[in-house]
Amino acid sequence: MSGIYIHIPFCKQACHYCDFHFSTNLKNIDALVDAMLTEINLRKDFFKDAEIKTLYFGGGTPSTLNQKNIDAIINELNSSFTLPSNLSEFTFEANPDDITKQKLLKWKISGVDRLSIGIQSFNEEILKFLNRAHNAEMAVKALEDCKNTGFNRFSLDLIYGIPGRNLNEWRKDVEKALSYNPEHISAYSLTIEEKTVFGNWLKKGRIKPMEDNDVIDQYLLLVQILEDHGYEHYEVSNFAKPGCRAVHNTSYWNAIPYLGIGPSAHSFKNDQRFWNVSNNAKYISSLKSGILPIENEVLSIKDQMNEYLMTKLRLIEGIDTIEFKNRFGSDIMKDHENYFQEISSAGLGEFRNNFYKLTTRGKLFADEIASNLFY
Ligand code: SF4
Repeated sequence: MSGIYIHIPFCKQACHYCDFHFSTNLKNIDALVDAMLTEINLRKDFFKDAEIKTLYFGGGTPSTLNQKNIDAIINELNSSFTLPSNLSEFTFEANPDDITKQKLLKWKISGVDRLSIGIQSFNEEILKFLNRAHNAEMAVKALEDCKNTGFNRFSLDLIYGIPGRNLNEWRKDVEKALSYNPEHISAYSLTIEEKTVFGNWLKKGRIKPMEDNDVIDQYLLLVQILEDHGYEHYEVSNFAKPGCRAVHNTSYWNAIPYLGIGPSAHSFKNDQRFWNVSNNAKYISSLKSGILPIENEVLSIKDQMNEYLMTKLRLIEGIDTIEFKNRFGSDIMKDHENYFQEISSAGLGEFRNNFYKLTTRGKLFADEIASNLFY
C-alpha cells in the first residue's frame, strides 16, 4: 500500500507562525502546475508494482488551485500511475476562506472524499493575531457548507499554546469544533520559529511564549475533552473517531513508501529518502529542462532505528519491542534498561505485552524521549 502527496506551495497570505514552504505570489500557479505535471510523468516508475491507496493534496493551500489545475494534476496522475477507482483515502487540504458549496461539489466529483480544514481557531481576535486569511464567520460558514453538501468526512486543524490566550478560550475552540462532529482533529502546539513574524516579534520582545505549564494544561484539557467524546488519541497531535485515523499520514509513521510531488515535497522508498528543492522558481526551471530537482540519502541502519523510535513513540501503540528486535537485532529494553525504568517511574510511559508506550503526559515529551533512546 503506497501513497502520493501533492504539495501546493501557495497561500493567500503568510500566517505569522508558519515556516512551511509556500509563496504568496499566486501569479505563478499555472507555471508551477505545468512543472508538477512534468514531475509526475518523470516519476511514473517510482512505485513499480506497489498498489497506490491514498492521495493527499497538502501545502501551502491546495484550495488556492482552480478546478482546471486540480483536474490536470489528477489526469496526469491517472495516466502516469494506476490509480484505483477505490482509493482508501483522497484528502484535500482547504482553508475556510476558499470553501464554497460550488467548490465542494466539484472537489467531490474529482474524487476527494476527505477534507482537512485549517480552522485553527473560531475566535476572531486569535485569527487576526495569527494573520489567518479567514475570519470566525468564514470558519463557521465553511463547516456549514460541508454539512449541507454532504461532505461528512473532514478533519479540523486547531492550534493551542497561543501567547496571551487562556484555558477558557481554548476550551471554547475545542467545544465549537466538536459541535460539527468532525471524524478527525489535529491539534498542534504553537511553536515560534525563528524565520517567521512571531520569531521576529519574540526577538523584539513584542510577544512572550506561553509558559510550559499553561501549554501542558491546554494539551491535557484537549485530550480529556476529546477522549470524553469518544476520540482516540492515536498520535501526539492527532485524534480520531473509531475507524477514522488518517490513512495517508499513518503511512508516514509506518515507513510505507510514498511519493511527494512539488517543491519541498519528500518521498520515501526502500530505506531511501528523497526531497525536492524548496524553491518554486528553481523547481519550475529544472523541470522545464526535464531534470528532477531532487536530492536523496540512503538511511543507515542507525538512521532507521532512530526513525523507528521517533515515529513509534508518537503513536498510541508505541514501540513494538519484538518487531524492533526482529528488524534491527537489538533488544531495546535491555539496551536502555535504566532509562526506561526512569521514565516509567516518572509516569511517562509503560511496558505492556511487549510494547513500550507513552502515557498522555509522556506524549508531551515524545521527541525528547526518543532522542534519549537514539542509537
Ligand atoms: S495557510 Fe497554512 S501553509 Fe499557508 S501560511 Fe498559513 S499555516 Fe502556512
